[in-house]
Amino acid sequence: MLPFKLVYSEKYFLPIGDHVFRADKYRLIRERLFSLGLVDDSDFIAPQPASESDVMLVHSPHYVSKLMEGSLTAREELQMEIPYSPQVVDTFMLHAGGSILAAERALADGVCINIGGGFHHAFPDHGEGFCMLHDFAVAIRSLQKRKLIQRAMTVDCDVHQGNGTAYIFGHPGHNAATLPSWPAPELGVSHRGGNVRQGPSRDVFTISLHQENNYPFVKPPSSIDVNLPDGCGDAEYLAWLDNALSSGLRQFEPELICFVAGADPFREDQLGGLNLSLDGLKQRDELVYRAARARNIPVMVTLAGGYAIKVEDTVTIHTNTVIAAAEVEASCGRKFGVPN
Ligand SMILES: [Zn+2]
Repeated sequence: MLPFKLVYSEKYFLPIGDHVFRADKYRLIRERLFSLGLVDDSDFIAPQPASESDVMLVHSPHYVSKLMEGSLTAREELQMEIPYSPQVVDTFMLHAGGSILAAERALADGVCINIGGGFHHAFPDHGEGFCMLHDFAVAIRSLQKRKLIQRAMTVDCDVHQGNGTAYIFGHPGHNAATLPSWPAPELGVSHRGGNVRQGPSRDVFTISLHQENNYPFVKPPSSIDVNLPDGCGDAEYLAWLDNALSSGLRQFEPELICFVAGADPFREDQLGGLNLSLDGLKQRDELVYRAARARNIPVMVTLAGGYAIKVEDTVTIHTNTVIAAAEVEASCGRKFGVPN
């Protein structure tokens, strides 16, 4: 029924107990899509877990072996803010495999959405902020290794800065690629309250729009960071996003966009301090899809955070990310239910 695939597994559920991170949201999104009559079973494809060698395209062998052996220190587990178990490791490996699959299918179909993933706070040698493995960095590196793409762009709209992403793709010591550095001209945008910082980028251009006064308190430079003020609302947010996307796509021509569609810029999020409405978040998604569509750039989507007071709102925001993609595809001539 959809003009693209959704990557999903029942095993995406993270066994982390009673937690602000509602790990049942993935199943609830799938159920919502069915109850709205928007999907059938043929819209879903099931991921395989990423392999250890895939994961080690991003993560250090030492960290991966600590995960496999269960030998994280108490401090490392605390920093992750979710309890360690071998089952949790397996689940993150599956989300990473899901993002690899979503990236592959995006190249074939134009769009693919992983109903999971978006673990942008994971670093090469440690996890933090509910993120153990950086699924979409693994996906990008996997596609690059197989020469399916050379250049990717991450567009991170989670309320929290994508510190792991910025570090992995911006840290000169981590990426041995010899592609040229990109110039860092001033963006020349000046909206009230926020500010833009431009950092290094090589073969992956990273854009992050986030609340400045929020986790992570140390923010490694993305290619473009938009540091938003507390309480930023729909119109201001959408203007910033439009500006950042236009600027990024003037400087860099990605062969794949990884859209990190966090639900936590929502005004009723427990871990966010922005003021976006449900409708504003859907407009955000449309803006990203249209920018990519206008340039014929495939988009793979991961869901990232979402901690609304009512879990139904988190589910609505993520479900709208699917609906927005279908509507933009339909407006570009691809209709619901018509295979092409
Ligand atoms: Zn977040």
